[in-house]
Amino acid sequence: MSSTAKKKTNRKTSAKTKVEAPKMTVVSSDVANQSGPTNAALVARRDAAVPRGVASAAPIYAKYAENAELWDVEGNRYIDFVGGIGVLNTGHRHPKVVEAAKAQEDLYTHTSFQVVPYGPYIDLAEKLNALAPGDAPKKTLLVTTGAEAVENAVKIARAATGRPGVIAFTGGYHGRTLLTLGMTGKVTPYKKDVGPFPADVFRAPFPSVRDGITVQDAITGLKNLFLTDAQPERVAAIIIEPVLGEGGYTPVPFEMMQELRAICDQHGILLIADEVQAGFGRTGTWFAIEHSGVVPDLITVAKSMAGGYPLAGVIGRADVMDAMAPGGLGGTYGGNPVACAAALAAIEAIEDEGLLARSTAMGETLKARFAEIGARAAPYRFWDIRGLGAMVAVEFVSDFDTATPDADFTKRVIAHALQRGLLLLSCGMHGNAVRVMVPLTASDAIVDEGLAIFEAAVAAAVAEEQK
Ligand code: PMP
Repeated sequence: MSSTAKKKTNRKTSAKTKVEAPKMTVVSSDVANQSGPTNAALVARRDAAVPRGVASAAPIYAKYAENAELWDVEGNRYIDFVGGIGVLNTGHRHPKVVEAAKAQEDLYTHTSFQVVPYGPYIDLAEKLNALAPGDAPKKTLLVTTGAEAVENAVKIARAATGRPGVIAFTGGYHGRTLLTLGMTGKVTPYKKDVGPFPADVFRAPFPSVRDGITVQDAITGLKNLFLTDAQPERVAAIIIEPVLGEGGYTPVPFEMMQELRAICDQHGILLIADEVQAGFGRTGTWFAIEHSGVVPDLITVAKSMAGGYPLAGVIGRADVMDAMAPGGLGGTYGGNPVACAAALAAIEAIEDEGLLARSTAMGETLKARFAEIGARAAPYRFWDIRGLGAMVAVEFVSDFDTATPDADFTKRVIAHALQRGLLLLSCGMHGNAVRVMVPLTASDAIVDEGLAIFEAAVAAAVAEEQK
């Protein structure tokens, strides 16, 4: 437990203060004004205690968060356009999610589903099976992290097809475990110095306007892969993010997804949609692949599914999901009951609060506002504004005509935004895009405030170059 957390606990239970049941909504300014360690002190302790490989984007330490706002240990307020990397479509501490998790904590927090199973796992599996696209009966496996979900999807695909091969795409991100790193299509920082990676993982080109790769080029690249390296009858699965997440918030063109489905059907290959980042309402539908009309065989989910709790899963056709023998799937913590309860509540919140429609509307607003801001602040810097629903990114270049990626400018925009109270995160193969993962529950006023800070940050980054 960090000293901050200790301090908070001590404060709440100190003999001098009346002990009260924790309130759902703490008065933010009260909490924010409590004295505690400074950001700088924690940075120094962290540097001594935590390996540098776990990079943190912001040199601030969280104290309190609510919906789309976060306060650091010094009481500074930030608007959160990052949401813990796409985990908080329903916002920090959504009241329903907190309530459901607390209720579950009062019953039991862990039994291991493999030893004494429990209802919330089944409730969530049924819900996910019903939400996933396609008419075929489905089953769901619950695990803990996105990478674990992807690993298990590959295991299931191999067991179901009796084939070893996996095809992933340039710029795709599937996790930091060794198999998922092998599938991840970006060297720095993820794959640097940690190879070799598992065999039988192949890479096909992802369509890219920047690199002049059309959908037809990408499909030709995949077909060439079948000729050069990956015998199609030995390929178990093709895995693709329907919208590249870490790779730059680039949607897969719908006709490409349809072609992939046809190629998979032709060769008996399973299609895995990695929806870890694009799922759970971010794009205006439960799953981003729904936009293309394609039904995948397996879907990996995590992040916003559980509203801030570590939970992930593989949803898939029942016949495929049952390929592995009893005992082949699982893990001590997989499908933790508190996380399941939180996920059921987060899904209910998405339904009750119309967050799918909100995502579509928010996406339109974001794109329109980014276009205005770009035109006003630095037209030659805004090379692309793209996305699906509220999964939107802005890509910065140093020169519009040559489209030269500008990671340095992007970093400075993010730093200026932080100074002004807005949390932003980059993405993209060249680290030159800023992605928006603001909670879908954020009010228009908060989103506007964040966008105004973004505009000021861009202006500041431009101004410092003109000095
Ligand atoms: N797949 C995708 C598409 C992701 O965006 C991520 C995480 N950014 C992962 C897999 C891995 O998830 P985790 O970090 O929970 O292991």
